[in-house]
Amino acid sequence: MPLTTPDDCACCGPQDENRTIEALLARLLPDQPVVQDVTLCPVRQARGRVLAQDLSVAEPIPAFRRSAMDGYALRAQDLSGPAPLTLPLRGRVAAGDSGQGLPERAGAVRIFTGAALPPDCDRVIMQEDCTTDGDSVTLHRLPNAGANIRLPGDDLAAGAIALTAGTQLGARHLACAATLGLANVPVRRRLQVAVLSTGSELTEPGQPLRPGAIYNSNRFLLATRLEEAGFDVLDLPTVRDDPATVAAALRRAADSCDAVVSSGGVSVGDEDHVKGAVLTLGGRIDHWRLAIKPGKPVAVGALPGPDGQECLFLGLPGNPNAVFVTLMLIGLPLLRARAGIPYRPPVRFPVRIAEEIRRKAGREEYISVTLRPGADGLPVAERTGHGSSAQQSALVAADALLVIPADCDHAAAGTLFPALPLP
Ligand code: AMP
Ligand code: MG
Repeated sequence: MPLTTPDDCACCGPQDENRTIEALLARLLPDQPVVQDVTLCPVRQARGRVLAQDLSVAEPIPAFRRSAMDGYALRAQDLSGPAPLTLPLRGRVAAGDSGQGLPERAGAVRIFTGAALPPDCDRVIMQEDCTTDGDSVTLHRLPNAGANIRLPGDDLAAGAIALTAGTQLGARHLACAATLGLANVPVRRRLQVAVLSTGSELTEPGQPLRPGAIYNSNRFLLATRLEEAGFDVLDLPTVRDDPATVAAALRRAADSCDAVVSSGGVSVGDEDHVKGAVLTLGGRIDHWRLAIKPGKPVAVGALPGPDGQECLFLGLPGNPNAVFVTLMLIGLPLLRARAGIPYRPPVRFPVRIAEEIRRKAGREEYISVTLRPGADGLPVAERTGHGSSAQQSALVAADALLVIPADCDHAAAGTLFPALPLP
């Protein structure tokens, strides 16, 4: 039986079409349960994993005084005369040498970047400021105390927090963990996310298209973006628009995954069965419909999973651009919250619109645009399509999403608007 869609429906929860993405997230984010299982993962395999605990610094980094330059290490007491000043060479320290045990007498020590400073030296002169004949070095200027030395703790002091819990580990963070000397890092279990494409018209790429059919592109969009975001994806077989088939697929997702992201079938048509299937399975719809374009019919709820766990349900619309925008702005923040990554609102940057905009006010709109440098240094945004949420080519050609506030019905060419970078 198709789900009816009255304005306020007890089964579907609030249907506030005026609701913004920020309001929706503010309501839903605090309630997202975070994946609890923590494992130790080798640093080399931890890309994209979410750090489960703060990592603090045991020993200062660097742990010893190091030269920041190729040059000569000097003692304060040898630098009484004005430059140029000639000193005998009394030793050599390369990176990896201990810097200990040099003869304690007047003179300069040949030193290289990263090498430990001899204990009696307090400054380094760069080799470009010196000339040498092999046995002695002439300083053409006199460096100050502390010059060109990296002190212990210069990078990270003992006790400091090097990496905070909730960091999604990329190259920079893994390099930092390695600098701390860690072979393994504590990470949360990867979020398991099922992807379900619904639609009787869908055919998998590689198969012949029968009349009336289209290729399933959302499956690839969703699975790829979710994997890029660091989640494990369960790529469910595509289902036709049939309530029992949709319900069976959602059941499978809820049995084994933390979340399910579906596309299609969440609007008001007779063939839109996804919300109804969620309710049939004993799940809930916490929210349906947003004041955004594209993506208005997006649904968020939960399905009962094993052991009293709840599987997050994200019912995205069918149109590919709506899938992209709602996944980026609603789905990924909710999934990241469950994965243990704290929410950070997307950073927007200002752009000027190339052409005037006339539109019906009421919904916040995300428009695919290209960017080019403008005369005043700000990027100029030019739309890539005609505005249909089905026009995938507009998104493919875009550099950014222009954000038009809900109340805007007209803006002249050159007006500043915020934009979001595309991944
Ligand atoms: P729906 O939300 O199910 O009414 O779908 C809206 C539009 O998106 C329809 O034109 C569908 O054919 C299209 N659509 C739905 N699912 C997909 C998909 N997986 N890949 C490409 N287009 C889709
Ligand atoms: Mg459909």
